Amino acid sequence: MSEETTIKNYFALINEGKLCAAHCSSCNELALPPRLFCPNCNSKTTNWTELSGEGTLRSFTVIHIAGTTYAADVPYIVAIVELKEGPAVCARLVGVDPLKPEEIHVGDAVKADFVEIPGPTPEEKANRLVFRPA
Ligand SMILES: [Zn+2]
Repeated sequence: MSEETTIKNYFALINEGKLCAAHCSSCNELALPPRLFCPNCNSKTTNWTELSGEGTLRSFTVIHIAGTTYAADVPYIVAIVELKEGPAVCARLVGVDPLKPEEIHVGDAVKADFVEIPGPTPEEKANRLVFRPA
């Protein structure tokens, strides 16, 4: 795999069960989604750094109506999680009941996990980043 801090490589790392951000060795900024150039200082000296996966729930919504790709998954929760290292990421929140959102609280501790999702062929299955209550 190329070490370039591209979205394509970000998802390749997700497939390996690794949540990573682009780290700038010039100014120490972490970029997620990753970028080839540091969004803080424009340096090209970005490289991957693996994150802990520990975070805090900052916002969430329950999806009841989805497009055809995800229609079979409803209801499900999409959350914004602020990671311990600083960046925020959007992913599904699992391990909770989407029909009882009153039991989910902004500020709750969550932890990254990876669930296998089917691909067009068995060889093309992939991992999806999700968060679970910590
Ligand atoms: Zn930088």
